[in-house]
Amino acid sequence: MSFIIIAIDGPSGVGKSTIARKLAAELSCVYVDTGAMFRCLALSWGKQGCPESDLFLQELGEQTRIYFEDEKTFCDEIDVTDEIRSEDISSLASRISLFPSIREVMKKKQRALVKEECEAGNYKGAVLEGRDIGTVVFPYADHKFFIDASPEIRAERRYLQLREQDVDADFQEILSALVERDHQDKNRSIAPLRAAEDAIIIDTGNMNIDEVMQHLLESVDRTKIYA
Ligand code: C5P
Repeated sequence: MSFIIIAIDGPSGVGKSTIARKLAAELSCVYVDTGAMFRCLALSWGKQGCPESDLFLQELGEQTRIYFEDEKTFCDEIDVTDEIRSEDISSLASRISLFPSIREVMKKKQRALVKEECEAGNYKGAVLEGRDIGTVVFPYADHKFFIDASPEIRAERRYLQLREQDVDADFQEILSALVERDHQDKNRSIAPLRAAEDAIIIDTGNMNIDEVMQHLLESVDRTKIYA
């Protein structure tokens, strides 16, 4: 039996999660937030106060159990959905994602998770969002999308979102953090953030979520889902 694999890559704060989650629901696919997986490892690493070494991080990665259930993220059986969203964890995740051992462990975990979920018969395939899904984790994905928007637009969206939640926010601080993470993600030597050659690139600068969704749904070949 074959399963459809859809890769959605792009920089921080571009709205990949919302889009990927909706697309997965629409296509009866499992949604895999690979950024959340890196965040879980960053959280474990921060809590254990462990050395920043390739070998140690590999062990940590192999021993940490990460899974998703009912739109929640679990790390070693603990619900960490909210805890992994802090700014500290964002930058720690970006930092550990530079280590070759971590990238290798995560690639294996992501592939295994998709296999397990699909073979259990609950889904027709998987929608994964991240930075290197179409280039490294699933280079043979059925569909690859690269969602983009300028740092200013992404920072403005984040700023408005925080203001709506009554959270104090500074536009310039948000913008500089985004630019710094973009720089780190795009310039690392292994699995840097970039669009796969065969990815469809969507600039969401002037599009709302419904328009992006429409674009994605028109591009997906559903025959594989119903095969
Ligand atoms: O997507 P999110 O912002 O939650 O990801 C957190 C960090 O994890 C990113 O800044 C990036 O450095 C790293 N990451 C990665 N590869 C992925 C997903 C996330 O390197 N596939």
